[in-house]
Amino acid sequence: MGQDVSRLVHELNNSLAIISLQVRLLSRGEAEPAETKAGLDIIQEQAKRMSQMVDDLRSSADPYQPRLQTTDVNAVIRYAMEIQRPQLQMDGIVLVLHLEDGLPEIQADPYQLQQVFINFGNNARQAMLEAHGGGRLTVASRLVEAEGSGERFIRVEFTDTGPGIPDEVMAHLFEPSFTTKGDKGGMGLGLAISEHLVLRQGGRIWAENNVAGGATLTLELPVPCQVVSAAPEPLSLSAEGQPDGSGQRVLIIDDDATLAHALGDLLREEGFEASVSHDAGRALELLERAPPDLIISDLSMPQVDGRQFWRRLLERHPQLTGRVLYFTGDSNSQEARAFLQESGCNWLEKPVRAETLVHSIRVILGQASEPGMGTE
Ligand code: ADP
Repeated sequence: MGQDVSRLVHELNNSLAIISLQVRLLSRGEAEPAETKAGLDIIQEQAKRMSQMVDDLRSSADPYQPRLQTTDVNAVIRYAMEIQRPQLQMDGIVLVLHLEDGLPEIQADPYQLQQVFINFGNNARQAMLEAHGGGRLTVASRLVEAEGSGERFIRVEFTDTGPGIPDEVMAHLFEPSFTTKGDKGGMGLGLAISEHLVLRQGGRIWAENNVAGGATLTLELPVPCQVVSAAPEPLSLSAEGQPDGSGQRVLIIDDDATLAHALGDLLREEGFEASVSHDAGRALELLERAPPDLIISDLSMPQVDGRQFWRRLLERHPQLTGRVLYFTGDSNSQEARAFLQESGCNWLEKPVRAETLVHSIRVILGQASEPGMGTE
């Protein structure tokens, strides 16, 4: 770990040196346009490399840290099942997919989900092979809505025609090292890890026996961003007569002044009217005077943080709550996750790509049709 950190520090410093050198060259202002473009490409490339290194550092400290990105769950299921298809066929198991069309994309870690689907598939295959020398595995996905709260989830079920799970096994199913396959090299880690991965992504996982025999393993993952359906109608004030949305007012709240101003510049270039505030309390005052069309806010800030800001907004300007887009570098903390889920608000994981940000803003403002929430 110590050596990894020194290597990363060394590489980060190299990238930083390249970036500052390029900035100095560019700011002399003598370069031809082609050289300027090449210099900017180098800066961008190095910044990307640095953010990848920071990600690597995070995951070496916590190997199960999910890397959330915009994910099409059906595509992950198809991929995971294609990998398993030859083995299933060899073992006399018919694979049936019932995947609901048009599922919303969610924020998840597709590689971890793939691992969970492979664990479910392997367990079902082994159980059916041992009990009946074959069978049928049905993998289904659909959108479900919780009664009352209206929260939406994507549910994925793996249903097999095996022997089912006896009560004494069911009671320990997700415990690490619990296995009934010790003689065949089973480690009892598949379901324990699967549960951990799903919980870390804000989901849940459970097992049941089917009335007709066999077992069903189910996981549910939250659909936190209801960007398209939850966004209210564009506010008539500034949206009227502006089909491309140019001139819409965006308020940026971030205690990191450099980041806030960089975002402001980016949005102005995209034709938005951007204003910046470094403190959410002050932003609330600005709102009173000129309500914006959209608010971009950091989630964790000193003094008034993103959560308190949201609550005050709900009291004073409820019509704006569907128009907040949060940034968070911390979506895996229990607290942040609970807030984002509870409020159903739109959010993006830091670092955010410029195109993703602009696209997400357009989605919330009703100028683009697909959710663009995503992470780098
Ligand atoms: P392992 O496969 O190494 O035993 P797991 O954590 O994946 O570890 O599974 C734990 C136990 O759960 C298995 O040993 C098996 O007894 C039981 N199990 C899991 N899935 C099924 C299933 N689809 N049908 C019957 N038993 C199952």
